[in-house]
This record gives sequence, C-alpha cells and structure tokens, in this order.
Amino acid sequence: MSALRVAVVGAGPAGMYVADALVLPREGSAVPVQVDVYDRLPTPFGLLRYGVAPDHPKMKMLTRALQRTLDDPRVRFLGGVQVGTDVTVDELRAGYHAVAYSFGASTDRRLGVPGEDLPGSRSATSFVTWYSGHPDAPADDVDLSGVRTAVVVGVGNVAVDVARVLSRPVADLRVTDVPEPVLDRLAASAVADVHVLGRRGPVQAKFTVKELRELGELEGVDVVVDPADLVLSAADEAELAEHPAVGRNLELLREWSQRPLTGAPRRLHLHFWSRPAALEGDGRVERVLVERTRLDGDGRLVAAGAPSPLPAELVLRSVGYRGTGLDGVPLDPATCTVPARDGRVLRDGAVSPGEYVAGWIGRGPVGVLGTNRSDAEGVVEGLLADAPALLARPLGPDPVALLAQRGVTPVDAEGWGRIDAGEVARGQALGRARTKIATWDDLLATARS
Ligand SMILES: Cc1cc2nc3c(=O)[nH]c(=O)nc-3n(C[C@H](O)[C@H](O)[C@H](O)COP(=O)(O)OP(=O)(O)OC[C@H]3O[C@@H](n4cnc5c(N)ncnc54)[C@H](O)[C@@H]3O)c2cc1C
Repeated sequence: MSALRVAVVGAGPAGMYVADALVLPREGSAVPVQVDVYDRLPTPFGLLRYGVAPDHPKMKMLTRALQRTLDDPRVRFLGGVQVGTDVTVDELRAGYHAVAYSFGASTDRRLGVPGEDLPGSRSATSFVTWYSGHPDAPADDVDLSGVRTAVVVGVGNVAVDVARVLSRPVADLRVTDVPEPVLDRLAASAVADVHVLGRRGPVQAKFTVKELRELGELEGVDVVVDPADLVLSAADEAELAEHPAVGRNLELLREWSQRPLTGAPRRLHLHFWSRPAALEGDGRVERVLVERTRLDGDGRLVAAGAPSPLPAELVLRSVGYRGTGLDGVPLDPATCTVPARDGRVLRDGAVSPGEYVAGWIGRGPVGVLGTNRSDAEGVVEGLLADAPALLARPLGPDPVALLAQRGVTPVDAEGWGRIDAGEVARGQALGRARTKIATWDDLLATARS
C-alpha cells in the first residue's frame, strides 16, 4: 500500500501533535504515513519556544516530547519555508493526500483608543517575541531606557507573564534561555511600577491561580491591590459559584489587598474595573488616561467617571490574539479562524476533501498547550477515516522538489539539531544551560554549519 502523504503547515504544538497522532501505532489501521511538517521559522515548536515564558521551565520541557515526534523517521521537518510564499497552498494540496493547517493565531488585538500607535505603546506579543529571542525581533527592538512606569492592559496569563518579566530581578532570568542582549536591557531597566489594568472585575479576569500566585512571590516586588476593586456584585457571586477556581484568585487578591507595603524597590499594581481611554504624550507615550468602568442595567460595560491620568512611559496591550489568513486558505472574518467541521476545512460551507485544521487557527486562541493535543487527536481521527478516499487521488508535483527548483533549502531536523546544540554550547560558555540564537542569519548559519 502506498503511504498517505500529509503536509502539516506550522510546527507549533498543534502541528507537532498532529504529526504525533498520525504516526501513533493504531489497532486495525495499516495505512503507512509520511508527514512533512513545514514552518516559516528554522526552528520547531511555535509559541512553546517563542511565547511560553522563559521562567516557566517545566512548561518548556514539553519540547522534549515534541522532539521525539520530530525524531520519528516518518516525520520530516522543513523549517525556514514560508507557506504561501516559498510554496503555495495549492501546490501543497496537489502534492499531498492531505494538508493540515496549524499556523497559529498570534496576531494581537488592538485597543481601539486614541494614541495607541504612539512610540512606547506596543503589543504584549511583540514584547514576548523580544524577550523570547524570536528572530523577527531584533535585540534593540525594545527600549526600556527612561521607563519607570509600565502599564499592561489585560488580565490574562500573557499579561501576567509580561508584568512578571518586567518586574522580576533579572538574576532570575539569567538561568533561562533569554538572549544576553535582552538580559542586558532588562538589567539596565529602571522600571519601578507596573500597573496591570482589567476592564472588568476580578471574577472575570482570565488569569489562572498558578500564574497569579507567582506575582506575590517575586523578590523585591510589592503587589498592590485596592480592596474596593474586590467588592462583588450579586452577578459576580453567581458567576463565582459556577467557576469555583476563580475563588482561589480572589483569596489571593484579598490577601494582597491587606498586605502592608514593605518598601520593596518595585511595585506591581493590579487594577480592576479600569481601562485606558487614551494614550497621550508629546511624540511618545507619557501617560495613560485611565477610565473607571462599571456595568449598566443591561450588563454593558460603561465609563464610571471621567478618566484620570496615569504617568507611564511604556504600554503593553494584551487583550487577546487573533488569526490572520494564509493565501489560499479560507478564514472566517468573524472568528478569525479557518472554518471547519470536526477538523475538516469548509470551503463555501462544504467540506473540502484533504484539508484539515488544528490548534489556535482552528479553534481560536484559547486553552492550554494540552488542549492542542486532544484537538489534534480528534482531527487525525477524521483524517485517517478519510484515508481510503484521499489515497485514491493521484498526486501532483512534489512540493519539496518545487522548493529545490526555487532555490529554497529547508532547514531539516539535523539543521535544527545543530541550532539546538549551538544554543546549549553558547549557554554553557556563559555558565547558563542555554541561550537562544536570536537572529535569522545566525540561526541559518548555525543550521547549515
Ligand atoms: C505569550 C504566550 C504565552 C503562553 N504561555 C502558555 C503557558 O504558559 N502554558 C500553556 O499551556 N499555554 C501557553 N500559551 C498558549 C500556547 O502557546 C498555545 O496553546 C499553542 O502554542 C498554540 O499552538 P499552535 O500550534 O496552534 O500555534 P503556534 O504555537 O503559534 O504555532 C504556529 C506555527 O506556525 C508557523 N507558521 C505561521 N505561519 C506560517 C506559514 N505561512 N508557513 C509556515 N509556517 C507558519 C509559526 O512559525 C509557528 O511555529 C501561551 C501563548 C502565548 C501567546
């Protein structure tokens, strides 16, 4: 029987879990499978490498499990290949029996307030990208000089991540893989106050208790919470009863709201019922006009008074992610996801044979890393059920041969292995376990060395 050839677009957690589920031994299934995993980056693992916070080493260890999938001889890594540019989606659809899209959804949402584009205001995504050593973000991309006060807009785990990285002693990050030039900038930073703004109350905040608790454990940081922000309405109480995990967040917040300040050098302020009405400054952000909010009788969020100025030199918006399209792949403009039924892509409302979607670009930017696994397993179940029909279709030109004709040389698993080893070697030379190689030139040169 000829092998079922599958292209996976995006080597993030979702794509890797799709590949893993495809090669998993299964009872009663005799279909041999060959999987090509494409990524625009020369490195695999998507946001696990370039999003998950560097000071969360346990989470980062998941790369080991994903690496085992890459080591499987039936899985081929094709890094440094931008699908849509180096090879088109139509070429992949012609050259493989099935294509699974897992290209992620990590474009940030905007605030939609005046002054949002002033220098000094940026997405939390771009800040994460910078401290994660992503090759799209040069080390000098973030300038913290002159920043004493930072405002983080949003109360999800990403907001907590960036607030923590801004506040925590840089010595804590020296044991991580954060690139040296980024560490130098963080070490030179004089950030003393970080304000986190949530437009609704503590019951609606999206952070999880584990992430939140860490904020209270940072050395040299006082956490400041106004007890008035923690007063619950009857509606909040009802919501809380349905989501008991939120109660643990509240316990922590209540404890912090009672803690006396210790005079620590940095303060992390958590505000609820507060949103930015505008960002102001002469050529760059100097202040945020912060508006208090409340729910009106219809449950709509409205301003509770005139905004008041909060001086700040850096604003990071962290109000959610969204997917952007890939040429040749349908995108639902309302949800910014690829429309699908049970993981099968829909074109004009009908299932498009041989096209599948998994991960954030399929279900939206929700869930934890493990959610991508169950998601991918479900998608692969459908794909393998479709295998007899998919195998019946003759294949067009081999996309890997097309890449060669175009002078595109993918970074293969060995090339990624050289990057991996290079990062460990560079880190060890500095007394660290690893330090990221953070430029395109350096990554590609190391991969091809
Ligand atoms: C800042 C941040 C921190 C997070 N921290 C945690 C955490 O601590 N714990 C947790 O459980 N979850 C965390 N998450 C969520 C987790 O990262 C996601 O669930 C997961 O990464 C989604 O996987 P994905 O494969 O769908 O997308 P991604 O991880 O975004 O992977 C998509 C991949 O597709 C590639 N790609 C994009 N376009 C193309 C193209 N045209 N051609 C080829 N390749 C392409 C990208 O380079 C990328 O490698 C975090 C997310 C963010 C943003």
